[in-house]
Amino acid sequence: MINVAIDGPAGAGKSTVAKAAAKELGYIYVDTGALYRTVALGAQRKGFLGDTDKIIDMLSDINVELKYIDGVQAVFLNGEDVSSLIRTPEISMGASAVSAIPKVREFLLDLQRDIAKKNNVIMDGRDIATVVLPDAKVKIFLFASPECRAKRRYDELIEKGESVMFEDVLADVNQRDYQDSHREIAPLKPSEESIMLDTSELNLEESIQAVINIVKENI
Ligand code: C5P
Repeated sequence: MINVAIDGPAGAGKSTVAKAAAKELGYIYVDTGALYRTVALGAQRKGFLGDTDKIIDMLSDINVELKYIDGVQAVFLNGEDVSSLIRTPEISMGASAVSAIPKVREFLLDLQRDIAKKNNVIMDGRDIATVVLPDAKVKIFLFASPECRAKRRYDELIEKGESVMFEDVLADVNQRDYQDSHREIAPLKPSEESIMLDTSELNLEESIQAVINIVKENI
């Protein structure tokens, strides 16, 4: 199976770019952030987002699944499709927090590896090249400046009808970058073999094409 790992910070356009590139290449797109978001949603619903011990206990009671319907990923929490419920700023921050808990990462590891074992995938996350799929055929680290990423996320949220301030979105991006790159376990960083792709100056089409080119040149 051909495995492509795409890692990078929040809001670099990874998911949109990876999804489009996967479609073009005929691979399955796996958004691993959705898994951490789902664990955060489970904890939030029980009212203990922030309590590490209770989150760890909860892991034996919850069931997280990924399903692909016409190539589109849906994530399920205890049988309920929560794909759109996990896309809120609160859950973004919650996902970043739960993802720093080693037991949570361990809990989600096999699920990610199983999909990659059975399918050609473009898998997007933070530690795909370094931890989840160290043998991935192609490893890309996709990034852009914090301001540029905050602007993209801000536009996305506004389009969804949410009322947010740019400064708050930028602060969230910076805080998540800090949390994601300073945690002890699986911190966000490129692997030694990662091909660095800076999308600050690229539009969406150019970013997608750049990923497709890198994949084609390296498989
Ligand atoms: O990519 P997304 O913004 O949906 O990810 C939400 C959070 O989940 C990230 O801020 C990051 O902390 C965490 N994450 C992770 N490892 C991954 C994917 C996401 O730690 N492979």
